[in-house]
Amino acid sequence: MSKRVINFNPGPAALPLPVLEEIREELLNYRGCGMSVLEISHRSDTFTSIIQDAEERLKRLMGLNDDYTVLFLQGGASFQFAMIPMNFLVGNRTADYVNTGTWSTKAIKEAQIQGKNIKVVASSEDRDFTYIPRELKFTEGATYVHITSNNTIKGTQWQEFPDTGEIPIVSDMSSDILSREIPVEKFGLIYAGAQKNLGPAGVTVVIIRKDLLELASDDLPTMLKYKTFAEKKSLFNTPPCFAIYVVQLVLKWLEETVGGVEKIEEINKQKAKILYDLIDSSDFYRGTARPDSRSFMNVTFRLPTQDLEMKFIEEAAANGLSGLKGHRSVGGCRASIYNAISLSAVQTLVDFMDSFAKKHR
Ligand SMILES: *Cc1c(COP(=O)(O)O)cnc(C)c1O
Repeated sequence: MSKRVINFNPGPAALPLPVLEEIREELLNYRGCGMSVLEISHRSDTFTSIIQDAEERLKRLMGLNDDYTVLFLQGGASFQFAMIPMNFLVGNRTADYVNTGTWSTKAIKEAQIQGKNIKVVASSEDRDFTYIPRELKFTEGATYVHITSNNTIKGTQWQEFPDTGEIPIVSDMSSDILSREIPVEKFGLIYAGAQKNLGPAGVTVVIIRKDLLELASDDLPTMLKYKTFAEKKSLFNTPPCFAIYVVQLVLKWLEETVGGVEKIEEINKQKAKILYDLIDSSDFYRGTARPDSRSFMNVTFRLPTQDLEMKFIEEAAANGLSGLKGHRSVGGCRASIYNAISLSAVQTLVDFMDSFAKKHR
């Protein structure tokens, strides 16, 4: 295939075309420094300005004040599942977890492996994780409440964040960071693998409020301590320089070309609406998530039979619509419509789905 397709992959996922073009443009000689970003020192002034700009843009876009520190780490979101309880649940501290699917389940497991004192205060496993639990009760004195803001595999999303009182929320936002405005003051820690909505694989953004950071353990191997990376501004050792550079370009695109998070939220809501409207009005497609809990980022749906689903995915791919297969653990179909996917790209998918349904009904 010589032409670029519309990429609905769940992650690694589509990047904005202007960002890819900018990378190509600057690849051999980054802004007159005579080298590629792939080749420069992480201690150089050039890289320092890249990582600082990424941090400043992220803080501006999310409305984070100086109470928050931004870290660029490795190990993926999955590494945070272990690092969070390891750092914060020392002594007799406890945490609450809400289980809304595969990724929350993994986060819970990593705390349990370490023998940490955590409580699963709610779960939607009873209905195969098709909804976000309501009316939650949290444990007094818990150090944090862990949630997964968007459930990439099951296609659900917290539309409203729970009232946790004084307890800070810790959220895995891998698949919806910067897709919408959020009440940041509720959050003590936000983490996200970059490869869905922020950039390429290889870097994980961790945003920590300073009061929570102060609670983090000092008695861990250096590379496992948040404080190591906070004190050295993510430069304790060599960070994933190129991935951070691409994140910086994506943030610049979001801020300067799109016009910020409020703007992208509006676009994201329109995208999801036209897709869900088609699914809701059809007797051919069936959404899998409960309407009050469904995701604006990962739209999961079924067709009447598995054969038709296979045919749908194949025919879509032949028409330049790629990555529509559901996660291997659930089957069905999924359109991941992250920030880099335009409204017109989603309209193209909707048109395809409409004609596919007419043809195969
Ligand atoms: C993809 C994903 C992960 C796993 O991310 P890795 O960076 O591969 O560890 C974790 N949580 C959520 C919500 C995800 O979508």
